[in-house]
Amino acid sequence: MRAKIIDGKEFAERVRMQVGAHVARLKDDHGLTPGLAVVLVGEDPASEVYVRSKGKMTVEVGMESFEHKLPADTSEADLLALIDRLNNDPAVHGILVQLPLPDHLDSDLVINAINPAKDVDGFHISNVGLLGTGQKSMVPCTPLGCLMMLRDHHGSLSGMNAVVVGRSNIVGKPMAQLLLGDSCTVTIAHSRTKDLGEVCRGADILVAAVGRPEMIPGDWVRPGATVIDVGINRIPHPEKEGKTRLVGDVDFASAKEVAGAITPVPGGVGPMTIACLLANTVTACCRANGLEEPEGLTA
Ligand code: NDP
Repeated sequence: MRAKIIDGKEFAERVRMQVGAHVARLKDDHGLTPGLAVVLVGEDPASEVYVRSKGKMTVEVGMESFEHKLPADTSEADLLALIDRLNNDPAVHGILVQLPLPDHLDSDLVINAINPAKDVDGFHISNVGLLGTGQKSMVPCTPLGCLMMLRDHHGSLSGMNAVVVGRSNIVGKPMAQLLLGDSCTVTIAHSRTKDLGEVCRGADILVAAVGRPEMIPGDWVRPGATVIDVGINRIPHPEKEGKTRLVGDVDFASAKEVAGAITPVPGGVGPMTIACLLANTVTACCRANGLEEPEGLTA
């Protein structure tokens, strides 16, 4: 079997169009412009690239982008003071603090200082609790993007066996909660799981969020299963000396011969993450103003 390739780039484009249309309606009908504030502390080059691209896409869909670049030695008190200002700024509907933060800053403390209603990353402990208890919350962007792709491909996920490999707070655990919310039977696997191959072979939906290049081979994939590869790993290029290339946690070449559908890396889950950040910002703006939320853009 040759799997259908789930095109995350194309899907993310569709999501951004939906977001853009909703932003236009908010402006026309209510005089509202959703605003996203992104806070970057320090000069991590990868983080700078992410922040630039978030800012660019925010503006492209018609929203307001507020970038706050702080020096690496920013004190916790100064960072918390900025978050407090953003929490109280009515033009700001979403706040994202780019992680990782420098070592001297306590990420949990900083994230939990964000107003949960503006926590568009969905990492605030209140949002984690709301998601865990099946209540309306801000949902972490990467798992939200995975869920959207799965719903688009399958329609209903009810009764499917889902295996999530990885139990991190930003991907694995919220992904499992979302799949449970859609009535999948969910297994969470991790580094201590026994006979991981056998566990994976039980999956109708296999989500890999590990951070180990191509560790899941095709013979761990049940024929016809849907494979969502969250992993982003940079490895030396096999043919071009000195160059690198990106691969996922799944061995794409062998898995695509077995799976029913699969996301590629790059061009799968990655582009959906920023699209979902924009979607969450519109959702936050609607909720803050007591307006109807955009359909299909939330969990
Ligand atoms: P973490 O390092 O926080 O978590 C990795 C998880 O994988 C852990 O739960 C760990 O288990 C598990 N794991 C590690 N080794 C094995 C193994 N041999 N067998 C089974 N499980 C294992 O990673 P993240 O969740 O933050 O990210 C995972 C991947 O997703 C990374 O490649 C990251 O770059 C990518 N990513 C992609 C995003 C996107 O936009 N596409 C966004 C966020 C992440 P244990 O808990 O037991 O240690």
